[in-house]
Amino acid sequence: MNLQMTLPDKSVMYNALLKRDSTFEGIFYVGVKTTGIFCRPTCHAKKPKIENVEFFNSSKEAIQLGYRPCKLCYPLEVQGKFPGWMIQLMKEIEDNPNVRIKDYDLVKRGISPHKLRRWFKQNLGMTFQSYLRTLRIGNAFGRIKYGDKVIEAAYSSDYESLSGFNAIFKKTTGFVPNKSKNSNIINVTRILTPLGPMLSGATEKGVCLLEFVDRKMIETQIKRIKKIFNAELIPGKSKYFDLLNNQLSEYFKGKLRKFDVPLEMDGTDFQVKTWKQLLKIPYGKTRSYEEQAIAVGNKKAVRAVAKANGDNRISIIIPCHRVIGKDGSLTGYGGGIWRKQYLLNLEQKK
Ligand SMILES: [Zn+2]
Repeated sequence: MNLQMTLPDKSVMYNALLKRDSTFEGIFYVGVKTTGIFCRPTCHAKKPKIENVEFFNSSKEAIQLGYRPCKLCYPLEVQGKFPGWMIQLMKEIEDNPNVRIKDYDLVKRGISPHKLRRWFKQNLGMTFQSYLRTLRIGNAFGRIKYGDKVIEAAYSSDYESLSGFNAIFKKTTGFVPNKSKNSNIINVTRILTPLGPMLSGATEKGVCLLEFVDRKMIETQIKRIKKIFNAELIPGKSKYFDLLNNQLSEYFKGKLRKFDVPLEMDGTDFQVKTWKQLLKIPYGKTRSYEEQAIAVGNKKAVRAVAKANGDNRISIIIPCHRVIGKDGSLTGYGGGIWRKQYLLNLEQKK
């Protein structure tokens, strides 16, 4: 797939670069051929000539082509924060998840509906309206689970008919509203990191999913997680996401060595045992598969250990990237070898 195709016009991006237009934050990165450095659109460094720049969708592409991150604008810092022009709107939605916002309302607030749609597609992979809808349903679910009557939740979510509410609720969650008390949902959100967007999920007990969204296994992982927790995945908020976001951000700055966001890992006994051993590998250190097998208590279980590593659903925090080949080769990594290399370099301060 040619990722370049999803970028705006080069002239549009160059213009945004000259104006340090923050609405393009997260939409493109710019590499400066003459210096080998890449930047955010809003960087305060002197702007290069158009013939000396190339544009990227992600910091990954820039890194793969050998560009180094700029020391002024820190393009590797966690993205996905709302750009300035969105903050007020998102606060409004947060204060009242049942708010209805049409294009006309956006224009009244000085926001271009087109720009907002593009931001949602690019950063959350969903439309603005489906984001609002899932927030409303997630909110209604919480109310019903903790005692509200379905009809109360439906009307306070601003649905005009109960049947309409029931239908959309079922479409979103996979169960009808009055099953809420006995059902679970896993709230999921996208977290943008220097290595690309990750899908994060949390139950009431803790984070149960953190995966790079482009990972081939992600759909299998999602199926497994739904089965294990008997739950549907719904975009929305979790009390753990802010902490997770902050800790990841500090981690990628090289400042955080140990995560303490609550986790909920569930799997076979062997998997859980292996994952717990992974958590014991210190920051900055690596372990071979054989050493990991010994740690798990069976020197011969090298392949089983490698498999359980691959089944890890909470990347980075459960550091499966710290297990490498006996000869020092990186062997495999679900999120791609380039990410494993990056994480190890970061931890080893290379
Ligand atoms: Zn810069």
